This record gives sequence, C-alpha cells and structure tokens, in this order.
Amino acid sequence: MFSDDIERFPTRFRESASRGPYLWDWGNECGLKGAGFAPTSMGGHHFITRAALQVLPEVTEWLHGEALLLTWCYCGFPDMNWAQYGTFGTEAISARMPDTRREWEISRYCQYNQLLDQGHFIGHHPDQAIEGLVGRYEDACRAVEEGRGRDAIRFLGAAIHYLEDSGSPPHAGSVSGPYHMPAESLRDVSGIGIDGYVPTPSGDFQETVDELAQFGREQCGDILALLEAGRADDVLPFQVACANRCARAVADLLIRFYRDFASSLTFGPALAPTGVELLDNGDFSRPGDAPFCPDGWVMYWENRADPDVSIERRDVSGVAEVVAERVSERVACVPTWPRVVRCAPGQPFRLVGEVVCDGGEAGLEILFTDDATRPVSPAAEETVQGEGWQTVVLDVVAPKGTEILRPGVFARGVPGAARFRRLSLTVR
Ligand SMILES: [Zn+2]
Repeated sequence: MFSDDIERFPTRFRESASRGPYLWDWGNECGLKGAGFAPTSMGGHHFITRAALQVLPEVTEWLHGEALLLTWCYCGFPDMNWAQYGTFGTEAISARMPDTRREWEISRYCQYNQLLDQGHFIGHHPDQAIEGLVGRYEDACRAVEEGRGRDAIRFLGAAIHYLEDSGSPPHAGSVSGPYHMPAESLRDVSGIGIDGYVPTPSGDFQETVDELAQFGREQCGDILALLEAGRADDVLPFQVACANRCARAVADLLIRFYRDFASSLTFGPALAPTGVELLDNGDFSRPGDAPFCPDGWVMYWENRADPDVSIERRDVSGVAEVVAERVSERVACVPTWPRVVRCAPGQPFRLVGEVVCDGGEAGLEILFTDDATRPVSPAAEETVQGEGWQTVVLDVVAPKGTEILRPGVFARGVPGAARFRRLSLTVR
C-alpha cells in the first residue's frame, strides 16, 4: 500500500506565508498517485498519519484504499475548509485554488461551512482543538453505527487533524506572527517515523491532548530560542520529536477505532446496482452552497491560472445546465468523491447526456480508479458533432482493478460555449 502512494519525499513545504501556489508545490513534488489525493493542508499532517499507519498493518489492510485517502486527504480536512477554494482567493496568488473543499464535501465533515455561515469554526490550538477531536471522533462512531463506513473514516481524518495540531510546536506554544511558519514547517520529513512502536488504544482524549501540548510547548521554547538566534537550520530535530509524539498518539487512536469497529465494518469492493439511476443530481437541478456549482458536483480547471475561462451551473428557462465558456485548456464538471459510483471490473455502463458544442471539443467522460482514487486506465471520452443539442452516449466496461467510476462532462479548446444537461448513468 505505502510503496505506491508517492514517488519521493518532498524537500520543503513552504518558505513564506504570502507566497504563490505553495500549497500544491510540495504535493506535486511528491508525485502523488491518487486523483483524489489533496494534501494541501500543512504538510506535516500527512507524514504523521502515514507514519502511524505504517506501524499498523492490520488497520491499513482493513481500511483498504481509505488508508491512503486518510493519509493524503482526510487528515488535512480542517485546513482545507475555506470558502476561497475554487476561487482566485484572497492571498497574493496568480492561480485559482483547486476546489478541494467541494471535491470532498469537507465542510460537511468539519461541521462548518464558512460560505453559508453554518456550524462554527474550531481553532487549531490545543485548547480548542480538543473540541474538534472529540466532536469529529463522535461523528465517526455515529457514522459506523449508521453503516456509513467511508463517512466514518473522513470524520476520523478530521479528528486526527486536531490531535496532530495539538502537538505542533507553534500551536502548543501559541506562537503567531513571523515565527509561526518557520517553527512548524519541516524542511525534511524523512525523520518522521515510529518503527517498532506498539500502539495501545488511546484513553481520555483530554489527557492525550494535554500531554502532546506540554511536550510541544517545551520543544517550542527551544525552537524559538534558535529562531531568535538566527539558527533556523537547527530546529528540525525538535520538530521531528513533536511529529513522532503525534504519530504515536494517532496510532493509539487508530488502534482504538480498529478494535471497536473492525468487526462491524468492511471496505471491500462493491457491485454497482442494476436498473437504477446511479447519478445524484445528474440533471444539475439542485444548486450547491453557491449557485454556480450543482450540489454534489465540482468544477475542475486544468489551467488554474487562466482568468478568462468560466464553467458554471445556470438555469436556462427552468432547465439547469452546466455551461463552459472561453475554454482553452480542459475544464470539467464531475461528482464529488463521496458521490462517485462504486463498481466492479467487467460491469458495463452507459452514460448519456445532452451537449451543445460551439466549436472545439466537448462531451462526456468516465474515469475508472482503484479504491484509493488511483486511475486504472486513461479516461474514456465521447465528444459531440453537429449543431444544437446532441444526445451523447458513452458505453464503457469497467477495466481490471476498477473499484470507482467517476463520470463527468468536459470541454477543451472551445472559444464560444459548451453546454451540458440531463445526465444519466446506468448499468447496461
Ligand atoms: Zn490545522
């Protein structure tokens, strides 16, 4: 599992808080394999979770693809819950942020939607993070009881984030201002690992958080003294010590969750049901938390630095459409990952939709991936020919290794407009 998640360790996370698209630089550098991996949280989280799972082979095996998603996505959720995802943002950046918040429905798993002002924000310092740890862990347990296993792991990821933040030196030491980032950002993550550690189920969460925070505060004192003396190169051992404390605490939490729920929950492959509509909101009729995006769907921009391209949901005389305009590099509208279709190799599918393409290329697509969102083949596409509304049919058979089908609409090189409506996906 962990030999095929990344190509290499990153060499740095972030050098300046006001820097451009720093959030994605280090992830790109790793050569991440999953289409749904989105490690745009503070980088240490992902390597701490990874270290915890590496001493828990039984948990990793039980979680199946969810282990990699917990590592590379879910444990970062509380850092990826900002309304500016999918926009050009408020920082001095020249590119649109990928819409990771909608892509994973993160606001739902964090119980806080900044855009709608629903729920409430929970701080990431230990005195507040405890609320996030307890609350999201309870959400995870409830999701198990309701038979929503994958939801449970996503809530668990949010809980783990708050646990990890509790032991972060500048969080534990309440350091804001110019020293926060250099105190937290590790220039080398290869020392994060707890080989040989034997996890024991965590007990009282408040005690765990207090212990992590106490240790983090002590290391933070040393780190601040070094930073004030201009010795930023010497802080790494103190940071790694904190990270590994956190990794042990995460491993303890994971073994507790595993022992409580492994017998009632499985994450194996599933067959897509026949004779039913497989798309949620395939006619785009329900708007999401902003009207430009259909509920349960998310937009994708190949070139996030292009300020002219537009792709959005519109109501046209009472019929909902997705409209893409001034498209050079590819744009798409696809279901969020929690709403993709679970399926098995050999299952035949038919995706149907109505499309208008005013020059260029536009049509329907289907991507097949494994359980951890790693593509198993190039996406299948069907484009339109001719004037006006055309019905497009894309017939495909799920290839070997498939566990997830992700359909979508896309456009490429369309100087005018491409329009899409009334999508339907069924097993043939
Ligand atoms: Zn955080």
